[in-house]
Amino acid sequence: MSGLCMAIALKRAGRHDFVVLEKSAGLGGTWWDNRYPGAHVDVPAPLYCYSFAPNPRWRERFAAAGEIQAYMAHCAERYGLQPHLHFGRAITSAQFDEDQGLWRIDTDAGQTLHARHFVCSTGPLSVPRWPQIPGIESFAGARLHTARWDASVPIAGRRVAVIGTGSTAAQLVPELARSAVRLHVFQRTANWVLPRMDRRYGAADRLLARWPPYAALVRAGWNAVLELGRRGFDEGTFMRRTLLQQAEAHLRRGITNEALRARLRPPYPLGCKRIIYSNHYYPTLAQPQVELVTEGITHITPQGIVTADGQERAIDVLVCATGFDVQHAVSVPIRGRGGRWLAEAWRDGPQAHLGLSVAGFPNLFMMLGPNTATGHTSTLLYIEPGVRWVLRAMQEVERRGQRWLDLKPAVMQAFNDGLQGRLQGSVWSQCRSWYRADNGRNIAIWPGSTREYRRAVAAQNYAEFCFGGATVA
Ligand code: NAP
Repeated sequence: MSGLCMAIALKRAGRHDFVVLEKSAGLGGTWWDNRYPGAHVDVPAPLYCYSFAPNPRWRERFAAAGEIQAYMAHCAERYGLQPHLHFGRAITSAQFDEDQGLWRIDTDAGQTLHARHFVCSTGPLSVPRWPQIPGIESFAGARLHTARWDASVPIAGRRVAVIGTGSTAAQLVPELARSAVRLHVFQRTANWVLPRMDRRYGAADRLLARWPPYAALVRAGWNAVLELGRRGFDEGTFMRRTLLQQAEAHLRRGITNEALRARLRPPYPLGCKRIIYSNHYYPTLAQPQVELVTEGITHITPQGIVTADGQERAIDVLVCATGFDVQHAVSVPIRGRGGRWLAEAWRDGPQAHLGLSVAGFPNLFMMLGPNTATGHTSTLLYIEPGVRWVLRAMQEVERRGQRWLDLKPAVMQAFNDGLQGRLQGSVWSQCRSWYRADNGRNIAIWPGSTREYRRAVAAQNYAEFCFGGATVA
């Protein structure tokens, strides 16, 4: 979504000299990768589209992966992006050449590109993480990761295990339970689950959505509601008390068995990990063919999964809904000024300035970079200001007759000190999650409101950058 947004912004600004490299065979990014059964966005679709391209075709409030892909294809078509998109091209390395003020980008097709600017839109959740469980390689049945779903593996009538109970698993489990003969859900940590305010959009909704003032009103309404929900992450607020009550009532409604309910009560504060929105997850766990396993996994055999109590559950299909490797937030090897690796600059965890620029890496622009994730609203509200920022920065480099701009290290340091200070006492520091690196540093969350982020990004201060490689004397 972010790469596409950047490409559209370039087109709309009349800049046509760019390419979009995509390692997958088609458009969609996370929605291309995550095609497991039940994959849906968990923010209302009117907020999960670009502000300048409302989508009157949504069929349901929480759109399915396929619908989002169709929307993206529509945008690519509408803005004439086809000639710019190169699929099946993975970047193998990207290196900044200080003399030329150019990024040298190599791809796995043996191609080398030279670019003035490099917008890295690989997303923090793109490298699937397999669990490190002894014996996993020896499993003789089908082994799937949700982010690399293989739809040719049959589920109907088979014994299936799902490891993990995050947002992905909560969407997948109800779907698998429809056809699997037996479904074991291995939970390491129980999560908070809130009701999802589902609604199908009928013909009347879709007709109304074509009227721009109505579309804008619905979008603004959802934005306001979700922003209000942001208060639920702060201790002692009315919103937090409301969410806690909702969560408890939801659990009681979905699970009548007290013992099972007790195993589903999260051991960490609400909001510390991503909140799950689902109306089907709890009722599915109460079905007779579904078993919630909370005993720890010790190892995997060719036939099944063994837990700490010595029990082995025989299975045909092993599904890992175990999330992503975020420690190396960018999967591309990148070298900046002086040949410095980004991985080296980030050895204590990824960090940037407003998630957009990293000191020592001129003209490298991150999309959804470190600390731009939220637990309460649409990521697109963070992408669009970022894209505008990048476009302005590119124009500023040209206006000054320079080749590059580079963030001053002290600016990045001060920004991150402030950010980490705010995060330290927050709800996000009170458990283990993909928001945090192994050393405990929060590398993902923006602790403020969306408006605060938008304002910070809009208030561009070029004194925080140095410029170099003058093209004119
Ligand atoms: P995740 O939130 O990182 O959850 C991974 C799950 O796997 C956790 O329950 C974790 O347990 C478990 N796990 C990991 N390693 C394990 C091991 N060795 N043994 C047992 N359990 C293990 O990953 P995710 O569910 O894929 O979601 C990641 C993010 O993607 C979400 O937070 C969200 O931002 C995004 N997402 C969005 C949507 C949407 O918009 N609809 C849908 C899906 C995902 P612990 O909790 O104990 O670590």
